[in-house]
Amino acid sequence: MAGGGIAGLALAAALARACPGAIEVVVCDPAFAGERPRDERAYAIAAAGRRMLEALGAWEAVAPQAQAIRDMVITDSRLSDPVRPVFLTFDGEAAPGEPFAHMVPGQALLDALVAVCGEAGIVFRACSVRRYTADEFGAAARLSDGETIAVDLLAAADGARSRLREAAGISWIAWSYRQVGIVGTVAHERDHGGRAIEHFLPSGPFALLPLTPGGPLGHRSSIVWTEREADAPRILAMNIEDATEEVERRFGLELGAITLETPLRGWPLAFGFARDFVAPRLALIGDAAHVIHPIAGQGLNLALKDVAALAESVVDAVRLGMDPGGADVLEEYQRARRFDALAMGAATDGLNRLFSNDAGPVRMIRDLGLGVVDRLPGLKRFFIREAAGISRGGPRLLRGERL
Ligand SMILES: Cc1cc2nc3c(=O)[nH]c(=O)nc-3n(C[C@H](O)[C@H](O)[C@H](O)COP(=O)(O)OP(=O)(O)OC[C@H]3O[C@@H](n4cnc5c(N)ncnc54)[C@H](O)[C@@H]3O)c2cc1C
Repeated sequence: MAGGGIAGLALAAALARACPGAIEVVVCDPAFAGERPRDERAYAIAAAGRRMLEALGAWEAVAPQAQAIRDMVITDSRLSDPVRPVFLTFDGEAAPGEPFAHMVPGQALLDALVAVCGEAGIVFRACSVRRYTADEFGAAARLSDGETIAVDLLAAADGARSRLREAAGISWIAWSYRQVGIVGTVAHERDHGGRAIEHFLPSGPFALLPLTPGGPLGHRSSIVWTEREADAPRILAMNIEDATEEVERRFGLELGAITLETPLRGWPLAFGFARDFVAPRLALIGDAAHVIHPIAGQGLNLALKDVAALAESVVDAVRLGMDPGGADVLEEYQRARRFDALAMGAATDGLNRLFSNDAGPVRMIRDLGLGVVDRLPGLKRFFIREAAGISRGGPRLLRGERL
């Protein structure tokens, strides 16, 4: 495995736990050397991803820091507007008593998965995978420490700039959104009640996502604030008081007094999609296969779906005595994932184009659309199920079943 981010670790855990002794997993990541920078982001994990983490034994450690999202409110206004009228509300559950998503700190997820992988005897190597060669009998991965290891299958979970994707000659369709995703944690006086709020502002969406109680004012939320590329450096360079004021202008006073608990950090936003998810003895997962706009908080959820699909194909092959890196296994994985990931990428791209736009007629049409959806409970139920990632007949791990 190249890459020990959340996607790589989740796949390693799924494979090693399903077939102890029969599958040997090695995870290579240069980030294992020394102190790994903390992941300060919090992720919206859909119900299907949570079920998988539970089946992998990682959820129990994460649960105390996981905040259920009970409902979601969407507004569409300009920054200068005195009120932000609500156009759309969603509430509902993936199943009775099961929230459709949770907000989870990225570091808690990484720590839990490292612990599960450690218990499953997975070998961690603090190096990168540079190149690989493959033939019908196996693959050889060339590591940055000079060693070459022989494997049946290489999984590239090495992120958006995947070296293995490049080594395999897989083309990458990509464009920049000329936007930056600004992320931070905000402390506030009043309880959010598990509500996620997304304000669609002309520069892009400003999302307020509930976290578990804590912080200097008793309650906390994570913000994902999309700004134009040209304006982001000014915001990211602000001192904490000025940055708090800017956040307050977007956040409003609904949750009482606020203060920034962490400095703001920026992530350049782009779209990227691999023309193929597989090559001989290689499977791309997570951001190595697709990078999408965070407008709907679905990037990591797509990665977890990749993990569930690839793990199931590989484990089934091993149990049947087949080659786990064979072309049939890889084709099955690609069939299961490529269309779904492309559909989500296209949907988030379209949503961002539609909402990061201040033209009067466009605003009128989209607000009309939101109003219509708000009056159709059947359609809203459909969106909740989509947000929960629950589908009939999908991979077993996404239904919470062990492989
Ligand atoms: C602002 C923002 C907010 C987001 N919010 C959400 C959200 O709420 N919900 C959601 O589902 N998604 C969200 N996402 C998307 C999510 O962050 C990514 O999809 C996810 O982190 C991808 O995980 P990954 O493991 O595939 O890649 P990464 O996290 O990038 O991990 C790749 C790993 O590979 C290692 N590596 C790199 N090169 C090599 C090599 N050659 N050999 C070995 N190892 C290598 C790196 O050190 C790294 O550890 C958000 C994204 C942004 C930008």
